[in-house]
Amino acid sequence: MNLQAPRGTTDLLPEQALAFNVLEQTALDVFSRYGYALIEVPTFEQLDVFVRGIGQSTDVIGKEMFFVYSMHAAEKLAAGETLKADERLALRPEATAGVARAVVEHNLVPPGAAPAKFWYAGSMFRHERPQKGRLREFHQIGAECIGAAEPTADAEVIIMLMRFFEAVGIPRQAMRLLVNSMGDEQCRPAYREKVREFIVAHSEQLCADCVRRAGTNPLRAFDCKNLSCQQVLVDAPKLRDELCDDCRQHYQQVKDYLTAAGLSFEEAPRLVRGLDYYTRTVFEVQVVNGLGSQNAIGGGGRYDRLIEEFGGKPTPGLGFAVGMERIQLALEANGCANRMQLSPQVFIVVVGAEQVSAAFDLALRLRDANIRCELDHQARSLKSQFKLANKLDAQLCVIIGPEELAQDEVKLRMMETGDEQTVASATLTETIRKILP
Ligand SMILES: [Zn+2]
Ligand SMILES: [Zn+2]
Repeated sequence: MNLQAPRGTTDLLPEQALAFNVLEQTALDVFSRYGYALIEVPTFEQLDVFVRGIGQSTDVIGKEMFFVYSMHAAEKLAAGETLKADERLALRPEATAGVARAVVEHNLVPPGAAPAKFWYAGSMFRHERPQKGRLREFHQIGAECIGAAEPTADAEVIIMLMRFFEAVGIPRQAMRLLVNSMGDEQCRPAYREKVREFIVAHSEQLCADCVRRAGTNPLRAFDCKNLSCQQVLVDAPKLRDELCDDCRQHYQQVKDYLTAAGLSFEEAPRLVRGLDYYTRTVFEVQVVNGLGSQNAIGGGGRYDRLIEEFGGKPTPGLGFAVGMERIQLALEANGCANRMQLSPQVFIVVVGAEQVSAAFDLALRLRDANIRCELDHQARSLKSQFKLANKLDAQLCVIIGPEELAQDEVKLRMMETGDEQTVASATLTETIRKILP
């Protein structure tokens, strides 16, 4: 029997693992400048964390969770017993809920304190039908700013996200930034009722899901993937026209800050998040090329009611999450994926088996001097050693032969030009350092 990676998972082979690592390094670099600190929350949590953070009526909770049972809990379940809350565990489908739980548990944002700003990176899990760009274990980078209600915080988060995308190599002109305001508890209920009435009035042109949503959460109809539904909903009432004065002013200031920062954006009146705790600003970044209908590479919004869901004091907040697989697809679709590998800078070639131990010593010395160095452990023919050096894309070869060894010298070959020079062993590290970029 051949064992395979589970459906919907993927091995990050070195090239992709390195590319993901570079995304995380870029996030660290960019987000640190905005005062965001790295946080790591568990890969699994009590199911209730996700139910509170994501909402019972969502597909994520209803259909896509991976549950985690200890053997003891599984036996209780099989015996028809009820599990205690801390035995009902699930793999995280996103990280915001875990961060919110941690913020409340550790009282990271006491009343009156400056906002706490976090970013994270890691695996998330959803039991979806696997398709291009959608995996059951996927990777996200995200950020959360908790404790700030001001429009500068919204603008800062959005600008930081766009700077991150540019820093990883997605050209600015290849992206579209969509923004909207979802209002708040003052103005949204009346709007929701208008959308419900609209759906009921157009129920014959909409899919069953949309019609069903009219009863529970009409705004989620805007997430419907059916083109025919989207076409009908173009004419639905727009929240932009129903915002209360506070929300309208907040939204205007966010847009003003984005404009002042030189970001172009489009207002997207049908961009909504279906959950009650989302308030005011929502945003999404799409790529223009390549990803088809699944063209979003990241998005987020303000969730001023979320922390209360976890039993905290009313604490405003907002955040975003970006899919690392999506970013890679976007980079490839736009022809700007970095085909990276950390090739050795120096490859050591030995003329005969007698020089192997000298080569081994030299390799250690170069590595201790922070130079990436490789040699052929199998000590095959000269020709195959050079072939391997080429395959690994080494920049320099150090050649050790009997005469060189006797003179305490080595030959240094530039792989690109084939130029060779003889260098005293004692000054080799220094010489290599001067040559390498
Ligand atoms: Zn629909
Ligand atoms: Zn409002």
